[in-house]
Amino acid sequence: METPAYVIDEKLLTRNLEILSAVQKSTGAKILLAQKCFSAFYFYPLIRKYLAGTAASGLYEAKLSAEYFCGENHVYSPAYTAAEIPELAEICDHVIFNSFRQVEKFAQYVKSAGLRINPEHSTQKISMYDPCGENSRLGVRLDEFKSARPDLVKKLSGLHFHTLCEQNSDALEETVAVVEKNFGAYLANMKWLNLGGGHHITKKNYDIERLEKIIRRLQKNFGVEIYLEPGEAVALDAGFLVSKVLEIQPARNGVSNAIIDASAACHMPDVLEMPYRPEIIGAAAVGVKKFNYRFGGATCLAGDVIGEYSFDDPLREGDEIIFRDMAIYTMVKNNTFNGVKLPAIYARDLSGNLTLIKNFDYEDFKSRV
Ligand SMILES: *Cc1c(COP(=O)(O)O)cnc(C)c1O
Repeated sequence: METPAYVIDEKLLTRNLEILSAVQKSTGAKILLAQKCFSAFYFYPLIRKYLAGTAASGLYEAKLSAEYFCGENHVYSPAYTAAEIPELAEICDHVIFNSFRQVEKFAQYVKSAGLRINPEHSTQKISMYDPCGENSRLGVRLDEFKSARPDLVKKLSGLHFHTLCEQNSDALEETVAVVEKNFGAYLANMKWLNLGGGHHITKKNYDIERLEKIIRRLQKNFGVEIYLEPGEAVALDAGFLVSKVLEIQPARNGVSNAIIDASAACHMPDVLEMPYRPEIIGAAAVGVKKFNYRFGGATCLAGDVIGEYSFDDPLREGDEIIFRDMAIYTMVKNNTFNGVKLPAIYARDLSGNLTLIKNFDYEDFKSRV
């Protein structure tokens, strides 16, 4: 196969979808795919068999959903433009606003208007991923809600919060307790409550029973329809990035630099942004096995380093290096910095056959600059 390339595995994707679908069935809650995490629409018909719809971050993702998913279409953005509203109003079931000013400007045009609240309760410490941080622009705080114009509050059919990131249901439980206490009076007048994303439902050790209890409790206490919009949990561990070794440099301090045809900066930016060290099939942490390598991309960026790994056997030019868990927050974040080639995208079906979904070339680079 061509490298670099993402391979999305239908069997692994389906495994996640079955877990999410079971939560929907046992609770009556609706689960939406957060497209910002995974927008490979080739798989939308498959995902549609299991999930109720999608969550979009704006007009383009909402359009993609309308075109290829054909389920419920929800959108949230920190700020919409007047030009986007007519199309969003037509294709979206829920339009979620980030301020009462946006509600005032646009709620009259949409089918079901929601408002993102900021529970002001952080359950994790990485400020980059904490919408409840001190100066956050995301969501309406309780003091603003209390002083909002009653006619604007009346325009709302639902509330939305999104505060978690790769977390278990204990973090949700804490957050829901705060939301109930502070926003319970408003919630009782709503039709729906959207619990956002960040629920690591398909991860080993996720406590699904506790999630289901929280959902049932909210349904019972407030009579609201419950939505969740996970991204990661839908395609977690369902994809790979396949790359090849281009060159291996002599070892320095026991570790050789290996240059590969995939780049952290261009093809897996979360490796640098989070940051984290992705897993490679057949490799261990540096020092565990005999042959040690530091993988870097063929770009100008000194920090375009994916991580350090060890192998049982020495690597050679042309060897395949396969990174795990590369379906999420990868294709949607790709860039062509340095004019680097975008990875092709393959689907691996239930019988193990590979289908090339998309390939990229010079024209793709040229069309973006
Ligand atoms: C990022 C985001 C999601 C999805 O988050 P995951 O961590 O991928 O589950 C859902 N809703 C909103 C509003 C988001 O910003």
